[in-house]
Amino acid sequence: MNEKSPSLQLDGRIHLWPQAVAAETGIKASSCYQCLRCTNSCPVSTFMDIKPHQVVRFVQLGQREKLLECSSVWVCLSCEMCSTYCPNEINVAGLMNFVKNSVVAGHKRPAEMEIALFHEIFLEVLHKYGRMNDLQLMQRFKLKTLLTGHLPSYSEFKQEMSLARELFERGRLKLLPERSRAVKEIRAILEQRRGKVIST
Ligand code: SF4
Ligand code: SF4
Repeated sequence: MNEKSPSLQLDGRIHLWPQAVAAETGIKASSCYQCLRCTNSCPVSTFMDIKPHQVVRFVQLGQREKLLECSSVWVCLSCEMCSTYCPNEINVAGLMNFVKNSVVAGHKRPAEMEIALFHEIFLEVLHKYGRMNDLQLMQRFKLKTLLTGHLPSYSEFKQEMSLARELFERGRLKLLPERSRAVKEIRAILEQRRGKVIST
């Protein structure tokens, strides 16, 4: 362990973070005994810089800043396999979400900008129409990634166009977005959730 680790500074505030997480989420990371079942059941752990069992360990140790900078929480699919397989019923997926929400609430730069952008645009489209429209989602996502300087290569562009054509031919790509009849209720839920994230 790094001897400059903030978890070793018993200065009160950092030391209390694991308890604050437990109080806010109801998730007891302290019950973890590092059996690794969460990581072994995770379908995307090989793509993570900090594996699920390590995320739990870092919460125990109060390594808040390291977690806020990691890419794992953005790679996480929220599939909850980790929580299902934990013998101590620790909601590992909930911890992943908690860290992700803390990044957003703290206006920090997400380690995986494109994934964070995709989440944001997904919610924008859902807020506008009350349901998903793949064409709107991809148009907005492509425009925003272009504005942030990501220029697709010719082969990437060709591959995406051929995928779009295939989806269109199968009737899976709706050109005109349809608005859900429950759009107002969906907006209310999203706004309520957004308020909670911001106040995290
Ligand atoms: S499965 Fe549960 S107890 Fe085992 S390492 Fe993961 S969080 Fe800890
Ligand atoms: S919820 Fe996230 S961390 Fe847990 S198993 Fe699924 S992808 Fe992995």
